[in-house]
Amino acid sequence: MFECTIAGSLPKPFWLSETNKLWPQWKAQGKELDIAKRDATVFWLKAQEDAGIDIVSDGEQSRQHFVHGFLEFVDGIDFEHKVKMGIRNNRYDAMVPKVVAKLRMKGRAHQTEARIARAHTRRKLKFTMPGPMTIIDTIADEFYGDRVKMAMAFADLLNQEARALEADGVDVIQFDEPTFNAFTKEAATWGIDALHRAIDGLKCTTAVHICYGYGIKQNIDWKRTLGNEWRQYEEFFPALAKSRIQQVSLECTHSRVPAQMMGLLKGKDVLVGVIDVASDEVETPEEVAATIGRALEFVPKERLYPCTNCGLAPMDREIALGKLEALGAGTRLARQRYA
Ligand code: ZN
Repeated sequence: MFECTIAGSLPKPFWLSETNKLWPQWKAQGKELDIAKRDATVFWLKAQEDAGIDIVSDGEQSRQHFVHGFLEFVDGIDFEHKVKMGIRNNRYDAMVPKVVAKLRMKGRAHQTEARIARAHTRRKLKFTMPGPMTIIDTIADEFYGDRVKMAMAFADLLNQEARALEADGVDVIQFDEPTFNAFTKEAATWGIDALHRAIDGLKCTTAVHICYGYGIKQNIDWKRTLGNEWRQYEEFFPALAKSRIQQVSLECTHSRVPAQMMGLLKGKDVLVGVIDVASDEVETPEEVAATIGRALEFVPKERLYPCTNCGLAPMDREIALGKLEALGAGTRLARQRYA
C-alpha cells in the first residue's frame, strides 16, 4: 500500500553541472561528462533507495533541461539560432530552438541512462519525458504551420523512444504536461489524443504529470493571479479519467488546488504531491502522513501513490535529500496509520 515515488528530476551535483539552475551548464565534456552523468545517476538511485522511495527515477541527471534534453536527439530542429518566445501561454519568455524540417529521431535519446539505472536498482524504475503539448509550447515552428500537427509528430517520436525504454526494462513511462494547466481546453481534446499516440502499444505502466511548475519566480508570480482556488484541473480531469493513461501525478500540498479535484480521477492511480518543491522548508513525516490522510477522502488506498508536487531539479541538494527522507518516512507513517 502507498508505493511512493517522485515526479522525476533531482538536483545535479556540483561536479556534474552548475547547481540551482533549470538550464545549467555542464562541468565536463566528452567521456568525462558521460562518466559524471553515470555517477550522478547511481548516487541518486542509492539516495532514493535509502530514503525508502519505492518507484525510483534516474533523476534526469543526463539531460540539461526536461524538454530540451529530449529535443537534442531529434532531427529537424535548429538549436543554433534560438528565438525568444512567450511560453506557458505567455507566462514568461524563453530562448527556444526552432523546428525547421520534418522531425525524426537521430537515434535513441535515453538508452544510456535508462540502462545504467536499470542495472543499478531492483526497484521499479520510472522514466520521464516531456509530453507533446509541453514540447510544442517550448519550441518555435517554422515548418509544420499547425501546432496540433506538430504535437502529433512529436508524439510519434516519443512513442518510438517509449517503446525502446520499455524494452530497456523501464516499469513506468511518464509524460510531463505542465502546459495542460495553461491550455486547459486543448488539454481535454487534442492534448489527450497526443498522449494516446505517445503511449500506443506500451505494456508498461503509463503516467502523466501535471503541475503548476517549478518553484521559480515566474511561476510564483503566475500562481498569485490564479485566485484562492486553483481549479484548472477541473477542466480536463474528467477527460483524463476516460483516457487510457493509467496514472496521474498532481500538485497537492501547499497549493490552492481543492482536494475534491482528485475525486475527478475515478479509475486512475493518483500520484499525490505531498512534498512542496517551491519551499526549502523540509516537511515532517507527520505533515506528509496528514496530506496522505486528506487525499484518502477522494482517492482509494490502493490507488494512492505519495509523490512530490513536481521535480526537485533547481533545489539545493541537501534540501532535496531531506525531502526524499520526509517522503519515505511520511509514507511509512501513513501505512501504519491507514492500513
Ligand atoms: Zn512538474
